[in-house]
Amino acid sequence: MLEPAPMNAVYSFAELQNWPAATMGETPAIRLGVFGDPVAHSKSPAMHNAALQACGIDARYCRLHIRAGELEAALRLLPEQDFIGANITIPHKAAALAAVDEADDYSRQSRAVNTVVVRDKTLVGFNTDGPGLVRAIRADFGADLRDLRVMLLGAGGGAGRAIAVQCVRENCERLVLVNRTFEKAKTLAEELAPFSRAARLEVLPIAQLLKTHLENTDLIINATSVGMNPDDPPLLPASLLSPHLMVYDTIYTTHRTPLLNAAEEAGARAANGLSMLLHQGALSFEIWFNRDAPIDAMREALLS
Ligand code: NAP
Repeated sequence: MLEPAPMNAVYSFAELQNWPAATMGETPAIRLGVFGDPVAHSKSPAMHNAALQACGIDARYCRLHIRAGELEAALRLLPEQDFIGANITIPHKAAALAAVDEADDYSRQSRAVNTVVVRDKTLVGFNTDGPGLVRAIRADFGADLRDLRVMLLGAGGGAGRAIAVQCVRENCERLVLVNRTFEKAKTLAEELAPFSRAARLEVLPIAQLLKTHLENTDLIINATSVGMNPDDPPLLPASLLSPHLMVYDTIYTTHRTPLLNAAEEAGARAANGLSMLLHQGALSFEIWFNRDAPIDAMREALLS
């Protein structure tokens, strides 16, 4: 008789192929998981297992270490192994879009899938990052993204693209795309321009950012990876920031990022990416189970 795997176990593709044997003795059965590489750090199992328990759903959620060459086959195993669905994280979100049978408009436009649901043996893809950010901004700042003039730092990355697409879909009053590699932000702006009705779309290299650019901004979003390490330099100095600003850092490390410290020093309101993580997870839960997510239990699990 096999010992049940510990809650923080990481399963491999080979184990997914032999799921009944790999998870023998697991109760409730593991029918959800997050695919990533690396994945050992993921907070999603804590958040989703708390949600499943709070709702009395007889299923569990695990980490799956899936390498790039294994993604499509791993997704195809989900119906066979009786999964409800899965989350997809770094570096697979773009490849997952190509692998699913259907995808919603937002995931196609953001070119990324972070949530898969098994419906009648087919794989349907969604991206909850942008809608999760909308809920996070409302929860942290009591403001609607659609009413804000947004400056997005890191418009060249995957998270930056998802957020930029969401801002355009919300018809944000103003959207300034800022990136270290200017060409990437420019290409994204050209692509989004035909969809941008109310939004005034501008592009700026990060090195040329001046205080005047921030006068017509309500919300700064950091979607770069700068700040993941506590020794990173602040992305923007406090001298550029003002008390009228809201500063949202998508990074959700336990340390306060240098950008959030700079925001606090400038008297601006600031929040980190934990709320985006929470709300994108809650939206995944809603997709899998077609019911509201137990947000308090999920938040508590993330904070413990
Ligand atoms: P990515 O695709 O690798 O993009 C990284 C971005 O950071 C690019 O725009 C890159 O600019 C920029 N960058 C990197 N180093 C820089 C530097 N030294 N100076 C200025 N810009 C720099 O990464 P990603 O997957 O989009 O993730 C980005 C961040 O979003 C991560 O910190 C992640 O934790 C966060 N995130 C949070 C959530 C959440 O739920 N809270 C969800 C998704 C992502 P170039 O284009 O010039 O390279």
